[in-house]
Amino acid sequence: MLTGAPRPSPIAASVDFDGKGVQHGHLRLPYSRDDSAWGSVMIPICVIANGEGPTALLTGANHGDEYEGPAALFELALTLDPSQVSGRVIIVPALNYPAFRAGTRTSPIDRGNLNRSFPGRPDGSVTEKIADYVTRHLIPLADIVLDFHSGGKTLDFLPYAAAHELADKVQEARCFAAVTAFAAPYSMKMLEIDAVGMLDTTVEEMGKVFVTTELGGAGTASARSIEIARRGTRNLLRHAGILQGAPDARPTRWLDMPSKDCFTFAQDDGLVAFARDLGDPVSAGETIARVHPVGRTGIAPVDYRAAMDGVLAARHVPGLIKAGDCLSVIATVAEKS
Ligand SMILES: [Zn+2]
Repeated sequence: MLTGAPRPSPIAASVDFDGKGVQHGHLRLPYSRDDSAWGSVMIPICVIANGEGPTALLTGANHGDEYEGPAALFELALTLDPSQVSGRVIIVPALNYPAFRAGTRTSPIDRGNLNRSFPGRPDGSVTEKIADYVTRHLIPLADIVLDFHSGGKTLDFLPYAAAHELADKVQEARCFAAVTAFAAPYSMKMLEIDAVGMLDTTVEEMGKVFVTTELGGAGTASARSIEIARRGTRNLLRHAGILQGAPDARPTRWLDMPSKDCFTFAQDDGLVAFARDLGDPVSAGETIARVHPVGRTGIAPVDYRAAMDGVLAARHVPGLIKAGDCLSVIATVAEKS
């Protein structure tokens, strides 16, 4: 096998990452196709830098149908005054830009789920090329990374900021300090169903401070969830020392996902009738939802019961559910406050 320098990314940035002031530009990714022979995907990017200080990388629409991140970050790029910045803020409001424009979780070009495509490949699909650029060119510039998520069209979440349990306890503490500073109504010690290929894991493995969120979902964003994103972003920049002043501290309720028993998956197709709403307390053994077969009358529904005490932290959104869909997530209320 040949060895040598890694293949360069095909993505070209029109911003200068070492420049000062405000720059609005694009990450241009060549994408040759029927309607544009030498065409490109143009991913918006903004760099705001001033003086000395750390770098924050802020990303939204890693999944294309999640809107709090883009709403807060397009606004921040327009309104952040560079004279108030000490350091650098790199803003990519819609990271999986083709998916964002299509209003879908994954890319319409290659069906790529960006948050399952890391660390990516410079010679891979469009989605893998975006992941590779982020891995090799954006994350190394950053001291702290905030990646916005919500439930997309098929899930809805209690609004929380989150970090993961890490082997490096010093790094873990720094991540949870940043989650505390974000000050969402809920703060989560988050367990992933499958952490392979995630931006989260890539950032954490590089030793950086990483915060993610789940701020709602159902394929839209509310006034309340956008305000949480807006305030949390500025809080994080204050926490990092990039903006002056202390974070706007708000009460937060700490939640934990202690095991994979948190997740409930539908075993059959049907009509889902929830018995509990987001934020409701649930007890082990209690029915969270019933799934009714829809082919005929006279068939009993299947009850899905809580495997643990806690609160309903996420739920399936569409009224019809399919076998294998995530029905619900229960989180336990943590002692930490
Ligand atoms: Zn997401």
